[in-house]
Amino acid sequence: MKYFIVTYGCQMNVHESEKIATILENLGYECGQTREEADIIVFNTCAIREGAEDRVLGNVGNLKKMKKKNKNLIIAVCGCMTQKEATAQKLMQTFPFIDIVIGTFNLPKLGDYIQAVKTGRQLEIWEEGDIDETLPYKRTSGENAWVNIMQGCNNFCTYCIVPYVRGREKSRKLENIINEVKEILKEGKYKKITLLGQNVNSYGKDLENPVSFANLLHEICKIDGDFTLSFMTSHPKDLTDDVIDAVASEEKIEKSIHLPAQSGNNRILALMNRKYTREKYLEIINKIKNKIPNCRITSDFIVGFPTETEEEFADTCTLVKEVEYDSIFAFMYSPREGTVASKMEGQIEEQVKNRRVNTLLQIEKELQMKKEGIC
Ligand code: SF4
Repeated sequence: MKYFIVTYGCQMNVHESEKIATILENLGYECGQTREEADIIVFNTCAIREGAEDRVLGNVGNLKKMKKKNKNLIIAVCGCMTQKEATAQKLMQTFPFIDIVIGTFNLPKLGDYIQAVKTGRQLEIWEEGDIDETLPYKRTSGENAWVNIMQGCNNFCTYCIVPYVRGREKSRKLENIINEVKEILKEGKYKKITLLGQNVNSYGKDLENPVSFANLLHEICKIDGDFTLSFMTSHPKDLTDDVIDAVASEEKIEKSIHLPAQSGNNRILALMNRKYTREKYLEIINKIKNKIPNCRITSDFIVGFPTETEEEFADTCTLVKEVEYDSIFAFMYSPREGTVASKMEGQIEEQVKNRRVNTLLQIEKELQMKKEGIC
């Protein structure tokens, strides 16, 4: 029996698909190369952007013919998109050939839902759950091993669905993370460890015996072995000096920080509920540049947030020029149902967002050319 997993979204989801693969292999399935040869197809979905949800719907819809040909094919949908109860219900109603729809917290029980399919279709969305420590991962990303250090987010940026679909921040115990890294390194094939969390700088605050993220970094660096360490994603409000110092002083940590700014304008940052100002953000960037010369600095930006004026967008452009990022990801704002920003007045026209995103990407291109000495 073969399985095929379709993954959408961020690195957290890519890593979660490694867990799905482990569950399926424990049930006796082998990894298939195409969905046509699969006995079970799992869609691990993303809810961050509208486009990702549309693609999921399109791709799931396309499986109708396959299910007609092969009645035993099992189709399962999980991930952030299905954590929203209304979306999960709609998926079940619209696509009667889907066998399993579960939420993010139900994932460790995927095996049980698969076994139960013979008794009927499975739909279950738990409101919350702990990080599962029981299943190992079938790692699939070459020399890099992803290590999840926490789940959820407490920040409630007004455009973001993550706190609603991943719950509040929950950190893994320090000793569990250290043991996982030791196990990974024992295998001898991994040269890079990447720590994952929606907001890694908040790591450890919720533990019974709180630990700082900087502490975690130092503890991992003490582990013997020839490896590099990196992490994502950081929130500027939580990126403390001790983390910058750890990156500066620990040889094993990659000299690279991804620090999403999202906007360069203070009114828009406040509307986004980012809890820092342009000035504060630049202060952190200057600290990084002073303490870690040659540090690679990258960022994310959202253009066309509700009510964003041309002048406010121009502030984002000047921020990008001032920081001289090594690379940026620029996205057009897209409303996510259930978030505060989706209900805001003053939504920006698509063509304006399109123009702004292209302007930002052009600025980035010019920065790269300048860095490479081309212009
Ligand atoms: S920090 Fe903001 S953007 Fe990032 S996951 Fe949390 S709510 Fe979403």
